[in-house]
Amino acid sequence: MNLEKFNEILGREPPYRLKQIKRSLFIELIDNWQQATTLSKELREKLTQNLPLSIKAESFVSNDKKTIKALITLEDGQKVETVLLKHKDKRNTVCLSSQVGCALACEFCATGKFGFKRNLTSSEIVTQLLFFARLLNKEGERVSNVVFMGMGEPFLNYDNVLEAVRTLNDEDGLKIGARKISISTAGIIEGIEKLVKEKLQINLAISLHSAKNNVRSKLMPINLKYPLQKIIEAVKDYTNKTRRRVMFEYVMIEGINDRADDAIALAEIMKDEFYLVNLISYNATGVFKPSSGMKIKRFKEILQKQGIEVTQRYRFGDNIEAACGQLAGKHSAKEVEL
Ligand code: SAH
Repeated sequence: MNLEKFNEILGREPPYRLKQIKRSLFIELIDNWQQATTLSKELREKLTQNLPLSIKAESFVSNDKKTIKALITLEDGQKVETVLLKHKDKRNTVCLSSQVGCALACEFCATGKFGFKRNLTSSEIVTQLLFFARLLNKEGERVSNVVFMGMGEPFLNYDNVLEAVRTLNDEDGLKIGARKISISTAGIIEGIEKLVKEKLQINLAISLHSAKNNVRSKLMPINLKYPLQKIIEAVKDYTNKTRRRVMFEYVMIEGINDRADDAIALAEIMKDEFYLVNLISYNATGVFKPSSGMKIKRFKEILQKQGIEVTQRYRFGDNIEAACGQLAGKHSAKEVEL
């Protein structure tokens, strides 16, 4: 699907036509132009020829059926992952990729090992969401939340990510509330600075993973370019200007960042009413081991004693390797076209 072709195709059509088309595409969630009955037969034919709606993907469903991972094949044959997490309270979160691969090479991340291939277009980002929106629509449900926590670094593809956010947020389209959309960054400062100026109510998350510069640099080489202090300064400016809370993600890795002194170092820099720490279970990708439940509990207690607000993210989709960039291809995949 290539939504960038829209204007080219609709160039001479009146503006209300675009609204009708958006309605079909993003509200009725059609997967074939013939279903767009508000349009003339001629226009439907033209759109069928020039803007096919099918999305080529393989999907992987977890044993408990709560997590579905889709591996979408793009027009140039590159593949990108997107994940749906179905929560108990009816929320449905889609985790979007922003790039094919990633240039940041974080030690613990499977995508990092894969290297960087290219940026995704905004249409390719929206397509990932449409895949799951169509699937959920068949069950009478919708996508309620969006996180940019799939493959890639969103702030190294800033313009396309923000354009996709606007499409997701569009009142005449998918209508996903800005407050339900989160962008996660490894700490690209220019991105944080630009976001301050957007006047959008979206959420910002920072992948911290260590409050010690030397440990963080080993885990995330990008810390050499954007060190902790600089990131915290940029976040402080962001919270001062936007008055919005910021979530700091912290993947718990055995023996690397999960000791008592790591928690104390973290507590030191988290003393701000706008900050929230999210402890994440590490999905092993071969290099490190996840911290034990007991270690995580102790770590959390130290933070809470210091008055830091802490949440904990449990594992989702273990058996389908739904963590960042982990597709082994050894599972029996079901080919679906939506
Ligand atoms: N590049 C962005 C967004 C993609 S990663 C960023 O770094 O924030 C989304 C989140 O998943 C990040 O917090 C990342 O550190 C984390 N992550 C990566 N690999 C993981 C793994 N194997 N287990 C658990 N979390 C992982």
